[in-house]
This record gives sequence, structure tokens and C-alpha cells, in this order.
Amino acid sequence: MKKLILMLVLAFSSQAYSHSGPEVPEPMNLDSLVKAFGWDFEKMEITTEKVADDLYVLFGVGGNIAVNVGDDGVFIVDDQFPQMMPKILKAISDIGGDGDVDFAVTTHWHFDHAEGNLALGPDGTWLVAHENSREMMKGDHIINLVVAAYEQKAYPESAWPDITYDDDMQFHVNGQSIDLWHFGPAHTTGDTAVYFQGTNAVHLGDVFNNSGYPFIDAGNGGTLEGVIKFCSETLKRINEDTVVIPGHGPITDYQALVDYVDMLSVIRDRMLAMIDDGATLEDVYAAGVTADYDEKMGNSIGFVNRAYMSLTHRRTR
Ligand SMILES: [Zn+2]
Repeated sequence: MKKLILMLVLAFSSQAYSHSGPEVPEPMNLDSLVKAFGWDFEKMEITTEKVADDLYVLFGVGGNIAVNVGDDGVFIVDDQFPQMMPKILKAISDIGGDGDVDFAVTTHWHFDHAEGNLALGPDGTWLVAHENSREMMKGDHIINLVVAAYEQKAYPESAWPDITYDDDMQFHVNGQSIDLWHFGPAHTTGDTAVYFQGTNAVHLGDVFNNSGYPFIDAGNGGTLEGVIKFCSETLKRINEDTVVIPGHGPITDYQALVDYVDMLSVIRDRMLAMIDDGATLEDVYAAGVTADYDEKMGNSIGFVNRAYMSLTHRRTR
């Protein structure tokens, strides 16, 4: 999906910004978003990649899904869309599942990671998330992607997490311990990293994007500083052999997460130096603070905008 957002970024990049900050684009709902992106849930497929005998990643529409299957049942991280659920359940059956999902952790409340709750909740899956993500799922929210905006409507109670936590929690299922970590506001205010101790793999949700610059949901409390902190805290708890699963993009490794933190820290420092000198968002765009990363990472308009908003909030609070 991030690729599609990037296409939108390019399409709308001539949009003008006011001096008091960018205006929020007219919000789309799921129907108009699906149309704008040309999605066809009927035709879109799930592909499966094996991480280890007991851990797979499913790629489809929206966030990457981690699947742990074992004697105790099926434990997944993120659940995409209800329209994709029959295909997701088929893919899980193909790797040893029994047709049901026992536990579904959502890394955060954004629709492309959590909308599948609408199907799984009524089906009896235990839904799990950080307590702030549960709160967000209960209300209507605008997600300002800068080049577009999305209005995520409140979920019905059957799709709200059954189990929440504040700082961390552990599952002991399928022969291993699975840690859920929260290190404060980052991509959103309710992010979770899920670390499979036995497999030595971590799913970071959208705190770690491996398909371009990260989106920071600054309109709903996300911050660039928080993304850097969240990833840095995760790095302290994993090791060089850990498999790293991003919210979007291909499965990668410890070093890629180190490089990501380095890049974000360099860009943050450049932006803060400018902000301390009174730079506007337009000044920061003009300075090309991401220029040396753009060839690899793609268009930075949305990222710089949201990063600037979160950094200036910090300075003026
Ligand atoms: Zn997200």
C-alpha cells in the first residue's frame, strides 16, 4: 500500500501549503480509497514467505501479517481487511492452521493493519492491542497522509481488542514466549512490537517501514522522535541474528533497522537545527534535508511534513 501512497504523493505533489501548516486534504472513506488505489479485493492474492518452521509472513493488501502456528493454535500479528480474510485463512491453513485464528495482535489501530478485526472479532478470535489503539478504534479519526487523508470510522464493539496492555506483556504459546513491547508514541500512540523469542523474529508494524520513508501519524500523536526511540529500544532487546518484519515491505534484518534509525536521526538533527533557526516547513522542503536518501527511499514530501509537525509541536509545547 505504501507504494500506492507514493503514487498519490507524486500525483498530488503540486499541492500548495499554507504558512500555518498544510491543510488536511478532503478525507476519503474506504470505498473512495479502494477506488483511488485501484484495489480489487476479489483479484488480490495473499503470498506467503517462510521465516522459520513455526513463523510465516503473509503479504497481501495492507500491513504484513506474521503467523505463528503450533500445538496451541494460531497466533497472528495484524489482520489487513475483512474482504481478504477468506484468503488469509486459506493461506494460514496451508501452513498448518485449522481454519481459525486464536489470537490476533494488531500493531496499531490503522485500518490497513486492523480492519480484519471486523471479521475476526465476531468469529471468536481473541483480539489484542496496546490500550491506546483500543481507544482509537472506538472513535472516528482522520489520518492525514498529507497527499491524501482517510477517515477511519469507529469500529463496532465486536472488533475492539479483548485484551490490552500498557508497557509490555507476554504470551506463552506454541512452545515459545512472545513479547509485546510499547515504548511510547511513535508511528501512532498505540504501537506494539511483537518479539517471537523462540524464533528470534520481531514484527514492528509501521514504526518500521521497509518500503520507503515512514509515515508518522502526527495528527494523532505520532512523532519522529518517538519512532527513533521505539526502534532504538527494540534494537536493545533483539540481536544481530533477529529477523526483522516491517509493517510494509520485505522481511529484513537487524542491520537494516540500525541503518533506518541512523537515517532518521540524521534527518531529525538537520530539521531540528533549522527549526531552532525559525525555519518554516517550506524552508525545510527547500533545504532538501532528505536529498541524499531520496534515491533509495523515494518521495519524502509526506514524511518531511509529518516529521516537521511533530518536531515543532515538541518545541512549542
Ligand atoms: Zn499505520
